[in-house]
Amino acid sequence: MPKGGKAVHSDVGLKSKKKAAPLKKGSAKVANDKSKPVTKKPSKKKSTTKKTLKIKTTTLKTKTKKSAAKPKPQKNKAKLASKLLKWYDKEQRELPWRAKPGVVPNPYHVWLSEIMLQQTVVKTVIPYFNKFISLWPAITDLANASDEDIRRAWAGLGYYTRAANLHKCAKLICEEYEGNFPIFAEELETLPGIGPYTAAAIAAIAFDETATPVDGNIERVVARQFAVQDPLPGVKTKLKQCATTLTPPRRAGDFAQAQMDLGATICTPKNPSCLLCPISSSCEGYHLGIESTLPKRASKKPKPTRYGSAFFALREDGSVLLHQRPPGGLLGNMQEIPTSEWTENKEQAENMLKSPPLKGEWWPVPGNVKHTFTHFHLELKVFRIIPGEEAEFTLFADAERCKWVHRDQLADEALPSVMRKIIQHALNS
Ligand code: SF4
Repeated sequence: MPKGGKAVHSDVGLKSKKKAAPLKKGSAKVANDKSKPVTKKPSKKKSTTKKTLKIKTTTLKTKTKKSAAKPKPQKNKAKLASKLLKWYDKEQRELPWRAKPGVVPNPYHVWLSEIMLQQTVVKTVIPYFNKFISLWPAITDLANASDEDIRRAWAGLGYYTRAANLHKCAKLICEEYEGNFPIFAEELETLPGIGPYTAAAIAAIAFDETATPVDGNIERVVARQFAVQDPLPGVKTKLKQCATTLTPPRRAGDFAQAQMDLGATICTPKNPSCLLCPISSSCEGYHLGIESTLPKRASKKPKPTRYGSAFFALREDGSVLLHQRPPGGLLGNMQEIPTSEWTENKEQAENMLKSPPLKGEWWPVPGNVKHTFTHFHLELKVFRIIPGEEAEFTLFADAERCKWVHRDQLADEALPSVMRKIIQHALNS
């Protein structure tokens, strides 16, 4: 059953899309009509007719044989889309942001989930999505929330500029669009935190626009369907073009989600279950026996490692010293256990052991805390202290951005995963 934002946005754009389908059907009919004179028009010369028929039969046989040996999915795209949508209607995953069949999708839910799903897997996103929806059921609630509350709710999900952009975007939608998202991908792309993929996903899923979002799952399905053997990331544009040729004029959002679900459950990175695949008959990768090798990836540059120290101060009354990181940059404005600078120079990092935020006796906690960011690995040596009530800040401390928080309240703080690892490591020592 087609989904779309028609109830909210019964615009000209939607109507004109509906008209597009018959036009395409029409052009297919014209192509068929052209074949009629060839087969039905009698020729005056008997001998020529026989010859012509003979040649045509041979050509037809050759064509049939070729296509049976190596199917070309781009020629069967309507069939492919209809098979996949049929499968999706029966097998789709239940996700908290996904509208049930026959229900108009909620653009706020679609947008929020797509922002959270950037660089993050579905399993991790589900509890965060549920938390956000229970705290801020409508986009106006989110727009009115404080930056700090949003950072707290986002803590642990990573890529923290997404949280800042989420808030900016919610405010903009409420102030300039009366709380309604624009329906076209081009306009969505102008909003904070929304890139080409997210814009296409929102347009297709929330508003049934004929847009083609291409995420990792879709990339894999398409690379296999078309047996694209050039490596990622260079081949991204080509894969997007291939994916676009498959997008049906109607139910583009369901079709995108069907490919996502197929990629997550059947066309998996390793050992895809091709025997269960509803579109295996058009899959070139499968027919060539190379599906598991696709998509290929160019070898990545190894990530550098940065080193530093973290200073865990726990007072006898149970309070822990936290520091708010500077705005902008990595983990901008998030809370942290005070740390030294992080440097790739191991020797320099050793010297930073002498830069704690409080005066007193610090002792090293055995073992290091390791964490991986997008562009580098981090290795931190942790130091502990039990400071007295009167403990003084050193010159290395950014005292104005420091605060004491009881350890029982730490779960409510905007602490990124790496900082939670440090706290765990220090408390277990
Ligand atoms: S046939 Fe196999 S490789 Fe091809 S799309 Fe289906 S599951 Fe993926």
